[in-house]
Amino acid sequence: MSKKILYVEDNTANRVLVRQVLESVGYMVVEATDGLSGIKAAQEEQPDLILMDINIPGMDGYEVTTRLKSMPELSSIPIIAVTAKVMAGDRERALTAGCDGYIAKPIDVDQLPKQVAKFLGGLRETITAEQEKIYLREYNERLVDHLEQKVAELTEANDILTHTDTMKSRFINLAAHELRTPLTSLQGYLSLLTTPDSKIIAGADQNTLDIIGGITTSVDRLQGIIQDMLDITRIEAGTLQLRHAPLTLTSIFDKIKRDFERAAARRNQKFIVGDASHVPTMWADGERVTQILRNLISNAIKYTPDGGTVEINARMLSNTSLTSSTTSSSNPYHFVRITVSDSGIGIDPNQQDRIFESFYEVRDIELHSTSKTDFMGGGTGLGLPIARGVAEAHGGSLWIESEACDPETFPGSRFHLVLPLGEPPKASA
Ligand code: ADP
Repeated sequence: MSKKILYVEDNTANRVLVRQVLESVGYMVVEATDGLSGIKAAQEEQPDLILMDINIPGMDGYEVTTRLKSMPELSSIPIIAVTAKVMAGDRERALTAGCDGYIAKPIDVDQLPKQVAKFLGGLRETITAEQEKIYLREYNERLVDHLEQKVAELTEANDILTHTDTMKSRFINLAAHELRTPLTSLQGYLSLLTTPDSKIIAGADQNTLDIIGGITTSVDRLQGIIQDMLDITRIEAGTLQLRHAPLTLTSIFDKIKRDFERAAARRNQKFIVGDASHVPTMWADGERVTQILRNLISNAIKYTPDGGTVEINARMLSNTSLTSSTTSSSNPYHFVRITVSDSGIGIDPNQQDRIFESFYEVRDIELHSTSKTDFMGGGTGLGLPIARGVAEAHGGSLWIESEACDPETFPGSRFHLVLPLGEPPKASA
């Protein structure tokens, strides 16, 4: 079988030349254009010999060689440095970095096949221990220099990303505020149209009523999207205001039941709302807690097939399982855990952190339908980050449990929301 040569080289003309020369004498040639893809190609291809250009972008050829030689499964592959830099000491530098030989550029096309054959046959160049000591020190200094330069580049790239992220948040905030103004007028006109004593409604035929109904649904949807945009910028900026008040979970569960009963029935799903009467009165923002549960339930309905089950339950948690500054010693139960479970498609463990990132969608955005409850209907990708942000603003948490994503076997998902019961602020004496 013909021997396989990996050539790591960024210059196309050189790659074409070497490929032609080596293939013409029966070698198989694979190529990589930079250090990282060279390492990947070496792992995947397990070549018999590597020709390593030294001046390649990113990690240079010396560094790639050192890395390859540190990998037990690759360390025995001969690596031959190929470099145009004919400075004194180039050969020694290459051997110190771990290369087994050295070929100077420009490549001599008549000599190359013979040189490669010799290295494949076992030839290894060596340097004295004395020389290696000198070049090792120089190599280390260069590595530290390179590292410093890379850290500076990464810091700069990070600054640019942070700036871009700030600009993105500002843009979303601005767009949401700008969109709110025309939307408010639209809502005003719609309410004029639909007030009970509106003459237009009174004399309208069914077709007109359907059109007005359609506009109202779209305006509500737009209102929801704008509200989500404003919420996410507030959460990211840490400026979300909560309006704490006494809250009974039962009343929220009742509201959720009323809101989603019809949608679940339309999808032929069993919608089970558990008993929450054992949960004491909480001190929290009722609207915001409802918002979290709405997001979780509408997702559960969306990602569960027709005929499946969506369930919400509440359970008290003792302080022993959690530590929080909001706990006091008189009552052992200071947290409630609300779990929304479904028998839907589930979520891949690799995606489970990412779904809480703003605008993250597991599926292709092009496949979007904007329904809140249709099977696999897409959304803005803000529901979960907002839900987690609101939970955390309450001093709580939100996480997911799911074995896998499988639209054939439906392993299901469980979202757990833990909230402190909270206490009203004590009146100062
Ligand atoms: P979206 O508006 O797209 O629903 P979310 O932030 O609410 O945005 O959810 C992000 C992604 O997490 C969804 O696009 C979906 O892929 C996945 N996801 C959320 N809830 C569930 C669930 N119950 N089952 C399966 N996947 C889910």
